[in-house]
Amino acid sequence: MAWRVAKSLIRLREQINEMAPDRSKASDGTIGDAAHASRSSDHNPWVKDGNIGVVTAMDITNDIVHGCDAQALVDALVASRDPRIKYIIWNRKKINSRFQPWVWRNYTGVNPHTKHFHLSVQPDKASYDSTVPWQL
Ligand SMILES: [Zn+2]
Repeated sequence: MAWRVAKSLIRLREQINEMAPDRSKASDGTIGDAAHASRSSDHNPWVKDGNIGVVTAMDITNDIVHGCDAQALVDALVASRDPRIKYIIWNRKKINSRFQPWVWRNYTGVNPHTKHFHLSVQPDKASYDSTVPWQL
């Protein structure tokens, strides 16, 4: 099936690449790998835009040495309360914009998310394809 990445997430990655052009992308990801595909995940293109599947999640590698500080980025995203945010997972914690809104909770998934942070955006097109700059 044809798929693409949500434009808001492309925008975020562009902004981060501008801030940290030499950053590692070792743990970056958009569409689900085999592990992701085996379970429910926004990395699967389950959101439909016509007959195209849209991936509404992105992983960004933590690489402090090269200017990509996941903790700082996550803190900025949370502080922004950007309405496009569905949830963020980082460093064994998860924060959701609607379920227990903006309260950090423990995340006990198999992947502790210590090498990258995960951002999911809302499944409506106005949100996921918005290219308004993120407040980082
Ligand atoms: Zn992820």
